[in-house]
Amino acid sequence: MKSFDYVRPASVADAIAAASQPGAAILAAGTNLLDLMKSGVSRPDRLVDVTHLPDLDGIDWLPAGGVRIGALVRNADLAHDPAFAKAYPAVAEALLSGASGQLRNAATVGGNLMQRTRCAYFYDVASACNKRAPGSGCDAHGGENRLHAILGWSEACIATHPSDFCVPLVALGAVVEVEGKAGRRELPLAELHRLPGDTPDRDSALEPGELIVALRLPADAAGFAGHARYLKVRERTSYAFAVVSAAAALRVENGVIAEARLALGGVAAKPWRPHEAEALLAGARPDAGLFRRAAEAALADAKPSGDNQFKIELARRTLARALAEAAAGTPDRVPALPGSPFSTFPGARRDD
Ligand code: SF4
Repeated sequence: MKSFDYVRPASVADAIAAASQPGAAILAAGTNLLDLMKSGVSRPDRLVDVTHLPDLDGIDWLPAGGVRIGALVRNADLAHDPAFAKAYPAVAEALLSGASGQLRNAATVGGNLMQRTRCAYFYDVASACNKRAPGSGCDAHGGENRLHAILGWSEACIATHPSDFCVPLVALGAVVEVEGKAGRRELPLAELHRLPGDTPDRDSALEPGELIVALRLPADAAGFAGHARYLKVRERTSYAFAVVSAAAALRVENGVIAEARLALGGVAAKPWRPHEAEALLAGARPDAGLFRRAAEAALADAKPSGDNQFKIELARRTLARALAEAAAGTPDRVPALPGSPFSTFPGARRDD
């Protein structure tokens, strides 16, 4: 392994200064970065360990409604926070659908947002990969690509974004707070991750040295708590990235869908929010035919990037089922293996 400097700044300002140096990489739990370093994909000159920065590990309820989550909150701590899980059950369900118990205990909120694709060719330095080495090509084209993108991909890159957590967050309009040399700014999470275009080496809208300090969910996002689910289809229920996943959150008034928020995971280089399908659901009475039409609208622009035609119909069915589960009402308690297509949903439905 290439040798590197290790620094542990005591303040956000010091961290930004250190991370702004060429060749620097920000280290939180390292659940993705250390794998990338071991395989030679990432070769930083300097690691900036942000895990000891003060005041980034709180879950704070805002006076005007909504919640602010520090970037260093651990995934498991957020998923098991009772108030958070009650207000944002689909987000908690997505967190518990991700990785393993051990990884969730270590991984941070900010790190989850910044994790990189799990395309196998990206991790294999002997392969051509435009994301790792711009201009080198893409061995996923014509290779093992059955889990690759069906929406928003380009000839340069057909990789998908691996996060479960980000999928309901995008549906619910989460906002990311960022600090950098130019000061503090915020952007919708939906704008943090980039589609590949001709520059797949750039995963996100962050500038060099910028640090995610917090994530916010707006007050209105809790209005979907009574009808919100995250459904993940994976090749191994115990521990695997999504083949496809869907977040569905409905605000139901007098038996009618007043508002719908949807997002798909495992289908593109970013969580995919199908606004057309949301519009189709608004004002309608929930039923299976409506959910199927919404799912067809959500996947209307999908096209295979290789041996993955099956993912289009799988995504339709996953979204339609997530909608049906959401319409039935959020369970009091998510199943032991949340979001599994093999789960049943015992126990009372919530009535809020
Ligand atoms: Fe690299 Fe993207 Fe091609 Fe995978 S799909 S090999 S990440 S360029």
